[in-house]
Amino acid sequence: MSKKPDAEIQKAIQQFAVKYGLFGLMTALPTMPNFMEYEAVYLPKNHFIKEETMSTEKYLALFFPFDKLDVIKRGIESMWNIQNDRVMMALALTMTDKPMAVNMSFQREYAERYEWMKQQFIDWAFTYINSFLYYEDYDTLNDETRQMMQQSMAAFGGIAPTYHIALLDKPTIIWEFHSLMLGVQMMFSFMLTDSENPIKLCRHCTKAFVASRPSAVFCSPQCKNKHNVYKSRARKNSSDREAQDND
Ligand SMILES: [Zn+2]
Repeated sequence: MSKKPDAEIQKAIQQFAVKYGLFGLMTALPTMPNFMEYEAVYLPKNHFIKEETMSTEKYLALFFPFDKLDVIKRGIESMWNIQNDRVMMALALTMTDKPMAVNMSFQREYAERYEWMKQQFIDWAFTYINSFLYYEDYDTLNDETRQMMQQSMAAFGGIAPTYHIALLDKPTIIWEFHSLMLGVQMMFSFMLTDSENPIKLCRHCTKAFVASRPSAVFCSPQCKNKHNVYKSRARKNSSDREAQDND
């Protein structure tokens, strides 16, 4: 959002992918994560693919642009052969209870377009700034602008993850996200609506931070100090000017 140079953005996104993995867009975008069991994929409105529906085979090609997986797809039947890759076989075995597409998105042939990842980060940043400014500037916004901001917020949302309850040392909700993207999106939504510890933009350095109390406006004591120094300097300058004017 602050228009950093392209190279810097690209490096940051690469670092994200190395540290956390790809978003798993392949399973996050369609209506169902188990789309491998069907001949066609259904896609709700999204920023990446215009078609509402496409053949499963064509859809897979978007995420395996280099080496294809050895997947045989005949109608609703699909078979996947990884016998000659031990590491990937072990990985697949640990995820046998997951939809096949989730498993496939962890294979080394799986890829996501850089432009799509970038777009996803922009969407999250936009959503956040939109929500933040709506409340920050509420009194100075006219009705038209408020409505526009409400509408662009309404466009944000996603497919809800499924969940089950596990009996651990106490009853615990286990979310099944099926993609990193859905996980990030859900946690981001909870943070965005958290009134105790809201996400805010620092009044001094403009970085986003999670506030320790609802009224916090600075990300750190350092920023608070710097901001106050600038403010008192500005005040001093303007009183100096007034003094000069009076001379
Ligand atoms: Zn700050």
